[in-house]
Amino acid sequence: MPTADRIVVIGGGITGVAAAHRLVTLTSGTDTEIVLLEAEERLGGKIRTSRFGASLIDESADAFLLRTPHAVQLASSVGLGEQLVSPTSASAGIWAGKLYPIPSDLALGVPTSLTAVARSGLLPTTALARAALDLVRPRSSIDHDSIGEWARSRFGYHVHDRLIDALVGSIYGADTDRFSLQAVPQLHSLSQAGRSALISGRKLRKVASPQGGPIFGAPPLGMEQLIHSTVAALQQHGEERARVISGSPCRSLQQTNTGWVVNDIEADGVIVATPAHHASRLFDGDLRTALGSFDTSDVAIVTVRVTANEWPEHLQNRSGYLIPKSQQRLVTAVSFASQKWSHLAQEDGSQILRISLGRDALPIDRLSDADLVNHAIEETSQQLGIHINHAETRVSRWTHAFTQYRPHHAERVAAIDGLLPRHLQLAGSSYRGIGIPACIADGTRAAEELLASMAN
Ligand SMILES: Cc1cc2nc3c(=O)[nH]c(=O)nc-3n(C[C@H](O)[C@H](O)[C@H](O)COP(=O)(O)OP(=O)(O)OC[C@H]3O[C@@H](n4cnc5c(N)ncnc54)[C@H](O)[C@@H]3O)c2cc1C
Repeated sequence: MPTADRIVVIGGGITGVAAAHRLVTLTSGTDTEIVLLEAEERLGGKIRTSRFGASLIDESADAFLLRTPHAVQLASSVGLGEQLVSPTSASAGIWAGKLYPIPSDLALGVPTSLTAVARSGLLPTTALARAALDLVRPRSSIDHDSIGEWARSRFGYHVHDRLIDALVGSIYGADTDRFSLQAVPQLHSLSQAGRSALISGRKLRKVASPQGGPIFGAPPLGMEQLIHSTVAALQQHGEERARVISGSPCRSLQQTNTGWVVNDIEADGVIVATPAHHASRLFDGDLRTALGSFDTSDVAIVTVRVTANEWPEHLQNRSGYLIPKSQQRLVTAVSFASQKWSHLAQEDGSQILRISLGRDALPIDRLSDADLVNHAIEETSQQLGIHINHAETRVSRWTHAFTQYRPHHAERVAAIDGLLPRHLQLAGSSYRGIGIPACIADGTRAAEELLASMAN
């Protein structure tokens, strides 16, 4: 491994923390100092867990995918591997005038069995007939790189609206008509694997999950535990090897003849692990313009408590539900946290609900916290036919939460990579994946590529 005196990582969200962890590991046995610089007093960025009543409830991400290795590997290497918990067997629903069970055997919203979709009752018969045309239609062009266009060309309007857009849109805070197919690997492979998306989805499901097992996992004290454990693992290397400086925004990033100066810290290499719109402010010229040009969407999560006597029996085996775009006002999804996670079941039988509002083309930034609570409670009460009181509520606002991967996003990222100066890497949720495993993978990649470039 190359030796360097100091490497600075800017941004203490999961990407930056994972990058710093990888750098410390790869430079073990050297004197290289890794400095992690975070603007806020609190580390974690968009990962935040806080108390709601007696329970620790996530204010944003509450689970990560187990079937891609990066989050599980990081959790294991910082001592959380054995502790990870998975959701209960409660199942999710779709709200379309009433609550329908989500069809089984979906691959990110893409049906792999029309019988399962028919059984759910979610689609009218004409829509099922249209969806079946996927089996005989010629391969779809994907030059447009839009999830919406591709999904409708295969299955028609209803499958796109009620399943694919509902699922993918809620993960990415997106309007899938304006979201890159190529940027969502599971859907992109389906579009490439064969003529029929349904048949390809069936094959890919078998490969992705040969023995079943849980799809999602999380640390038992909430997602912020992954941040704390990773930072603790960093700090075990001692102050000389790993320094974490929070409450210290990077305001200036200057390239010198020999390396970089970050604020007043000299460094041999830098990883900028902030969202692109923050990163853009650190650069000039084309790089600044390119990084500043990504659209983002704002979301909020309103957490509420529903008393036990208000909670109807027919909701007791449910983990929550999604609301398709055609049915949305401001609420896009509702998670029944105390039924989704067994450790969050409440002693008094009350239910904690996490209600998501807003996405691309469904702005919420003009609303006050009180408005958000009112909308969340009114829409959810109406959908579930229950009374939710205002006694215990919490609003978590996530401005610029999700970079929108517009069609041909990958080409924009490649162009940005081509503009990067020497010994500097960009990483994070704006570029190669939004989910926690993808952010960890990107932080790890940035660490490895930076060290490799410094060795040359
Ligand atoms: C509501 C919501 C729900 C989500 N749910 C899930 C989920 O269930 N599963 C999942 O896998 N993913 C989920 N995600 C996505 C995932 O949580 C994020 O994509 C990921 O946490 C982003 O991490 P990051 O480190 O790239 O960016 P961030 O978390 O934004 O971290 C960047 C950090 O950089 C800091 N910073 C910015 N500018 C500077 C500067 N100049 N100097 C120093 N520091 C700076 C910021 O303060 C911040 O701490 C969700 C996201 C949201 C918002």
